[in-house]
Parts: sequence; C-alpha cells; structure tokens
Amino acid sequence: MSCIFCEIANGERAADLVYEDEIAVAFRDINPQAPTHILVIPREHIAGPLSVDADNAPIIGHLVAVAAKIAQQEGIAPDGYRLVINQGRDGGQSVFHIHVHVLGGRRMSWPPG
Ligand code: AMP
Repeated sequence: MSCIFCEIANGERAADLVYEDEIAVAFRDINPQAPTHILVIPREHIAGPLSVDADNAPIIGHLVAVAAKIAQQEGIAPDGYRLVINQGRDGGQSVFHIHVHVLGGRRMSWPPG
C-alpha cells in the first residue's frame, strides 16, 4: 500500500525538508496552520499513536527530540511551541503514517478545536 509520507522519507516525493537523520525526516506542512508548521516523521512506517508500543516507543522519543532541535533552528523555542499527534477520525488524522506537528510563531489557544 502506498503511503505519501513513506514516499517523502524515501525521497520519491518532493517536500520542503528541514531536517533528516537515519531515523526521522522533517518537512514543512503544505497547508500551514501557524507561521511555523513542520511535520516530523519516522522513516519506519508506523500508522499512528495507537500503533506505538514498547518496541517502537524510542522512535517517538526521537521525534520529540528532533522537534526540539527544529524549534531551536526555527527560532520558536524561546516563546514556545505546540506538538500535536493526531489519531484516527475524531483525532483529525488524515495521513496514516505517524507524524508530530510542530506549531509555533503565534499564541496557541486551548482547548484545541
Ligand atoms: P493529520 O491531519 O494530523 O494527519 O496531518 C496531516 C498533515 O499532512 C496535514 O497538516 C497536511 O496539510 C499535511 N500534508 C499532507 N500531504 C503533505 C505533503 N505532501 N507535504 C507536506 N505536508 C503534507
């Protein structure tokens, strides 16, 4: 089954990459919801947060660490930023390859919509 985020991670689909290493890739969201909106994904296909278990949990920790690096890189770390991982229909997930949204550059509201 094809997966657009696997294609981006493999270099088969173009994206505005901001970071990559052996475990993760990060790129700008095509439909940004904040001045800075970057997606951090693992190279390994994991469908969503519901598919995280003891074996692959270190990968998710790595995504959060990459998000911190990107926040520094993008200049949003001092004022803060929001990380979002959506799961399923009610969570608002539209791409079924786990991704951490890194949102910053404006004040976020709570509760989320
Ligand atoms: P979610 O709704 O949490 O599954 O988030 C999926 C995100 O992927 C949305 O914010 C989309 O705008 C974004 N997106 C979908 N396709 C691409 C793409 N080819 N390049 C960059 N971002 C994308």
